[in-house]
Amino acid sequence: MRSLAAMKRAREKEKARLAAQGPQAKQVREVVVPEAITVQELANRMAERSVDVIKSLMKMGVMATINHPLDADTAELIVTEFGHKVKRVSEADVEIGLAGDSDADDQLVARAPVVTIMGHVDHGKTSLLDALRATDVAKHEAGGITQHIGAYKVSLKSGAAITFLDTPGHEAFTAMRARGAKVTDIVVLVVAADDGIQPQTVEAIAHAKAAQVPIIVAINKIDKGDANPDRVRTDLLQHEVALEGYGGDVLGVEVSAKTGKGLDKLEEAILLQSEILDLRANPTRAAQGAIVEAKLERGRGSVATVLVQKGTIKVGDIFVAGEEWGRVRALIDDHGRQVDSAGPSTPVEVLGLTGTPQAGDDFQVVENEARAREVTEFRQRRTREQTAAARARGTLEQMFTKIREGEAKELAVVVKTDVQGSLEAISGSLAKLKTDEVAVRLLHGAVGGITEGDVALAKASQGLIVGFNVRANPQARDLAKRDGIEIRYYSIIYDVIDDIKAALSGLLAPSLREKFLGNAEIRQVFDVSKAGKVAGCRVVEGMVKRGAKVRLLRDQTVIHEGTLKTLRRFKEEVREVQEGYECGMAFENYQDIREGDLIECFEVEEVARTI
Ligand code: GDP
Ligand code: MG
Repeated sequence: MRSLAAMKRAREKEKARLAAQGPQAKQVREVVVPEAITVQELANRMAERSVDVIKSLMKMGVMATINHPLDADTAELIVTEFGHKVKRVSEADVEIGLAGDSDADDQLVARAPVVTIMGHVDHGKTSLLDALRATDVAKHEAGGITQHIGAYKVSLKSGAAITFLDTPGHEAFTAMRARGAKVTDIVVLVVAADDGIQPQTVEAIAHAKAAQVPIIVAINKIDKGDANPDRVRTDLLQHEVALEGYGGDVLGVEVSAKTGKGLDKLEEAILLQSEILDLRANPTRAAQGAIVEAKLERGRGSVATVLVQKGTIKVGDIFVAGEEWGRVRALIDDHGRQVDSAGPSTPVEVLGLTGTPQAGDDFQVVENEARAREVTEFRQRRTREQTAAARARGTLEQMFTKIREGEAKELAVVVKTDVQGSLEAISGSLAKLKTDEVAVRLLHGAVGGITEGDVALAKASQGLIVGFNVRANPQARDLAKRDGIEIRYYSIIYDVIDDIKAALSGLLAPSLREKFLGNAEIRQVFDVSKAGKVAGCRVVEGMVKRGAKVRLLRDQTVIHEGTLKTLRRFKEEVREVQEGYECGMAFENYQDIREGDLIECFEVEEVARTI
């Protein structure tokens, strides 16, 4: 081993050598900056130390750790600050040319319309789909449409055809749209004539309108004694759906899924609407479409139902589907038959994927395997980077930046409230808010807790969700977290309007923001003679703290807000209780607590808004 003195000498020598060389000329690098990048990765690419990058970010007012994701604009500033050259790469670079050329008019031929059926639960969506499926004339030779592949094509006597998508719900419809797929040409809104407009009917209208897809109303269950189709027609007016003869031009058809009455009229209406839309596609190019459904099946591997939108898919084709790719091993149609190819507006099951894509992903046949790999690898990387960046920044701040830069013209909002009165007040005030450049677009407003559907809707339009005295259910909360959708909770109408107004006019003042601490579920309610009602709780998430503020939630709705009088564990007054533990809680001046209620615990802090 070398002696300590020898090592010291060697170091001195090295120092002297460096000093003699003088300051080294800095090497200027070309730094590739994607849409999102972590501090660490950016430092690596510049060959700089990450602490220096963090310091430089601090000078710009951004507090970051090495794992902190930066958006491309911030990253670019840093790169120039360090004297390097920036090379921005975006989706375009890898995906250029992927979609192929646009088609000349004379290559286009008429294609079948693609229809999604929506409506309130039990109004007869499934029954109607089944009844329409039964009208397929091809069924005689092939035994009817038997295969469940999430979509099927009904051939009519006239030779025309209609493709129906069997999406499991409004969320699925909008989730597909959020992934960039524009698949549905027409929405058939089913309303039961004996039940009228119901909450999910209104929701369906919101989803269809947000997608800018024409609606045809099927007034179902017309066979029933208490059917009142005229009431349906009148009530629809309140939701800005004006049927023919009611001051509008929306087609409305009375049907019975049970007796089959009016089904031919409904099909006629769909074909009429599709004529107006002039739906055409080129069948002779490389296939392009959307994933309707995809799953991993034992013995078959990943299987996807593809709705072909352009071109013709053939066995042996190499394709990209979202972040996955494959080679078509077999094609199976909605009758369960193996086919060699499928053209526009045809749903077909595709075997031969290397992974399972998601509903709504795009489908694209490409030249070769190398191209397929290049695109999917890029997309996988982009998703990883984007989810990280999305988590780091709230939607409102993002929107605000976009508005300021003139990129956005609208602030899309979903509003959920505890009562109709506050819904009307909030949507009314929001509708009036606008500046010269931007306005608020209300995607959906309804009474009730925040659901996955609301998150999907907000995501599809890059909007945010306002919860007024209501909360998101756990699934919705997870989805929002995953997709970086901001949910803002309010309990004062003025605050809602103020925040949105501030965002629109480009003035995000420091604000009081709530910090969620935890939730406790009430397991049992005790009557204690001196203390009044005490809730026996279990902390199901986070923690609860004495002195913090609390809200009582029943069915996702806030029914009381106040402070805690006591927080106990085994008769002992304690400062805080963590997740998984039981405790006793009582509210200051409030007694109406019930088993099953949720106690939300939060603190209020002032934060400066960062942009
Ligand atoms: P979905 O929840 O919208 O899919 O509704 P379903 O198709 O499951 O139908 C709900 C209920 O309504 C079932 O019991 C059906 O038999 C019944 N139903 C559906 N369409 C009709 C109809 O046209 N007439 C009558 N009388 N009942 C119907
Ligand atoms: Mg159903």
